[in-house]
Amino acid sequence: MINKVFKFGGASVKDARSVHNLSVILNKYKNENLVVVVSAMGKTTNALEEILKDAYAKDTVKLKSGLERLKTFHNQIVKEIFNIPKASSVLEQLNELFALLEQNLIKIQLPYVQNYDATVRFGELLSTTILNAYLTENEFNVELLPADKYIITDKRFRSAGIVWPETMARIKALDITNTNNKIFLTQGFIGATVDGIPTTLGREGSDFTAAVFAACLNAKEVWIWKDVPGLLNADPKRFSNTSKIAKISYSEAIELAYYGATIIHPKTIKPLRNSGIKLFVKSFVDPDLPASLIEDLHQAGQNVPSFIVKEQQCLISISARDYSFMDEQLLHKLLGVINQLQIHVNLIQISALSLSFCFDEDQEKLSQLLNALEKDFNVRYNEKLSLFTVRHYNSKIADLLNQHHQVLLEQRSRTTLQLVVPKLHYQLIDSWIKKP
Ligand code: ASP
Ligand code: MG
Repeated sequence: MINKVFKFGGASVKDARSVHNLSVILNKYKNENLVVVVSAMGKTTNALEEILKDAYAKDTVKLKSGLERLKTFHNQIVKEIFNIPKASSVLEQLNELFALLEQNLIKIQLPYVQNYDATVRFGELLSTTILNAYLTENEFNVELLPADKYIITDKRFRSAGIVWPETMARIKALDITNTNNKIFLTQGFIGATVDGIPTTLGREGSDFTAAVFAACLNAKEVWIWKDVPGLLNADPKRFSNTSKIAKISYSEAIELAYYGATIIHPKTIKPLRNSGIKLFVKSFVDPDLPASLIEDLHQAGQNVPSFIVKEQQCLISISARDYSFMDEQLLHKLLGVINQLQIHVNLIQISALSLSFCFDEDQEKLSQLLNALEKDFNVRYNEKLSLFTVRHYNSKIADLLNQHHQVLLEQRSRTTLQLVVPKLHYQLIDSWIKKP
């Protein structure tokens, strides 16, 4: 039986000390089976994205120095956590992975998105190779599961969808009889098609991997280990007066993730909710702190205001050149174009003559959209905006925000206030977060 699936993100394995810390945490759960899902170490995925860009730009000098940095980063961790003979055998394994990675970087005739998935997955392959060796060395009973043999997906590169029947069958076939102290270690974020073509689940997708394993194994709990004390009502990297949310419902968590709270990958909650699996968000820095809990809550929680920022937004306004109403037919047509270009809309609003919406800035998509619409529509747009969402706002916060910001677009429901602004006054907002 497996009750718990743990997920450790990049920050929890960013250097030798944190790798050691992870083993100290796992030591407390030595009497049960665990699935442990791990991301790439530190900022490795970003580094791999850069390296791949350099490969396509044929900038061999930058490519080589990027690869060298990544090697040194991983090798350094290995040298710090192992004694010399062990370190050299792990370094050999890493070298093999780097050799494969370099082969990939030459295959730039592959479509970019496909090569992206085949390349960035090396981050997780490197981290789990190191962890597997480290945990085994420290007398844990570990089995490394190659995620691409278990997480089976469609071919939507860079944001692949799970093929549930196949994934379910493979994970359920894991032999967990006669063992009650085993760690099944696996890579987050990566998968493959049935015929083995590498895919990824989308940036920050390791949370989702943990949820998929938990759902397939009928686990009771998923624990996401973070460098923050739990679920907070605002991003601590932007605000200092945050407070911890002890407990929220699945649907509230989905709302927060949807509006851009980066703490949980938005796809994570659905499989957990559907199987009644609890989700704990817990600090790996201070594991004695109680976790935040996301579960099936019937009565509404305390509903403290939560503040969510999405930067780098583009706001578009579209109106028909012939002054047609923005009726259902026209909306249908415009949403069809937006859908076809795979533009993800963060906020949408209509008036008699115009449709306005916000999306994450993307020059290529913007120009495709302008091309598609230019014949029949007037299109205006503003860039470098911020989308600010307040869940469970009150009128005082709404008034203050309006008074101190140049608001380009506003939307309110009973629970949620959203503003699109050129510039957010972080310090002012921080002072209101304290006493909402
Ligand atoms: N390593 C991947 C990323 O940074 C996946 C993850 O961290 O969840 O996006
Ligand atoms: Mg990561």
